[in-house]
Amino acid sequence: MFMVTIDRDKCDGCAACADACPAGILGMLDDGKADVTGEAYDCMGCETCVATCPNECYTVTEV
Ligand code: SF4
Ligand code: SF4
Repeated sequence: MFMVTIDRDKCDGCAACADACPAGILGMLDDGKADVTGEAYDCMGCETCVATCPNECYTVTEV
């Protein structure tokens, strides 16, 4: 399985990741920053979030 981590300190709230994740597990929290809002184990490891985020917030690792 894959584990996605987000450096929220670098997030500017553009929401591009939430729109792009094909698993639909990324979303925006009330503080205006992205987080895993769905089931983390549904991550497919596609790294679309890594490619989409303009601020290099994402790291995806196989665990
Ligand atoms: S690696 Fe793919 S499935 Fe996993 S959170 Fe990123 S965009 Fe979504
Ligand atoms: S794409 Fe990056 S900067 Fe934009 S909301 Fe997602 S984590 Fe934040």
